[in-house]
Amino acid sequence: MSNPYILIVEDEAPIREMLRMALSRAGFTLMEAGDTQQAHTLIFERLPQLVLLDWMLPGMSGIEFANRLKKDEITKDIPIIMLTAKTEEADKIRGLEIGADDYVTKPFSPRELIARIKAVLRRTMPLSDAECLTVKNLKLFPSEHRLTIDDQDVHIGPTEFRLLHFFMTHQDRVYNRTQVLDHVWGGNVYIEERTVDVHIRRLRKSLDEWGYDSLVQTVRGVGYRFSAKG
Ligand code: CA
Repeated sequence: MSNPYILIVEDEAPIREMLRMALSRAGFTLMEAGDTQQAHTLIFERLPQLVLLDWMLPGMSGIEFANRLKKDEITKDIPIIMLTAKTEEADKIRGLEIGADDYVTKPFSPRELIARIKAVLRRTMPLSDAECLTVKNLKLFPSEHRLTIDDQDVHIGPTEFRLLHFFMTHQDRVYNRTQVLDHVWGGNVYIEERTVDVHIRRLRKSLDEWGYDSLVQTVRGVGYRFSAKG
């Protein structure tokens, strides 16, 4: 990971300044935007590896902008970390539901933010294992970050992809949320367990058109299991 390119979208100059100092010191290459319009222009000049997106922005809100990025074919795979002053649990979950990969609540420490950025980048980087994994008509190509069902390409988010990769390589075993976090999120202590549920839901949604959502099974009171049996 050499100097990952990160776009900061934040309207408050002092926070932008703080982010610039902390992140450039951590070795990231940065671009900055004060609103979503500017951010949009910068993104299409050069696709960032990650977007740090403030929730409350003048004009279009961060959450609307995230929604737009996730709907666009070109930008949908760029991971997003939301910066939010909102502490309501419902808002956090809403952020994750629309496709943000993580959120950080203000005020945050630069150290915590950097840890989260690294965790998101780690799980959105291409997996090295080139072997194709197959379950029924579902095929996962780790090195190409590609999923096909019945030879048709299936869109799947970066976190769901890693989650599915983990499940396909660890079938017929039950994992609790902490274990799933450790394996898929690299043991990032800042991620809450219910984040796992959100991504499980998204993974099932990607598979349900083919009836493969049932491969991802909930084991009551324990956690989750991936199984093609029964
Ligand atoms: Ca703001």
